[in-house]
Amino acid sequence: MLQLDVSGRPQAWITTREAAVIYACDGVAWTLGDPCQVLRGGWQRLSGRQSRIEVHSIIAVRGAVPSRAWRQAPALSNAKLFARDRFVCAYCGHRHDVEDLTREHIQPTSRGGRDTWMNCITACRSCNGRKGSRMPEEAHMSLLYLPYVPSLHEDMILRGRRILADQMEFLLASVPRNSRLHG
Ligand SMILES: [Zn+2]
Repeated sequence: MLQLDVSGRPQAWITTREAAVIYACDGVAWTLGDPCQVLRGGWQRLSGRQSRIEVHSIIAVRGAVPSRAWRQAPALSNAKLFARDRFVCAYCGHRHDVEDLTREHIQPTSRGGRDTWMNCITACRSCNGRKGSRMPEEAHMSLLYLPYVPSLHEDMILRGRRILADQMEFLLASVPRNSRLHG
């Protein structure tokens, strides 16, 4: 399930179990999308019926909005970097398996380059090895696409493993037009 804060900003991917706890504690502010799972609980003594919770694919939880998380750039990881760059090497333009991809620092770390979204790009092992610790222009290797910092909504897409259609629709609506995810 996709968890949002009460204002609709994505917070986390949570399991059905975690979602059930939020429902049980009356922590759901509002929901979007269709119920995607029905959980059955205990039998109610009076009615003789089994309690059931319909869990929605997008759940906004009550409570204060943590402003800090919103301002921070999403954490950089290889998995998300490769997903941002669509598993395409920025130098040769070929799509590769994850095992053949590397996190390439455009300005090499040995020369002061930082480990950030804006200085990192996806490169295959052979292009990365060929470039070595040179700047792209020194190596006569130009970037076929540019790095960027993913928005929070885009970050949720990059982190998600199996994203339901209504969750994807919600997240993509807030992803900037220039994102490669629209490509
Ligand atoms: Zn390559």
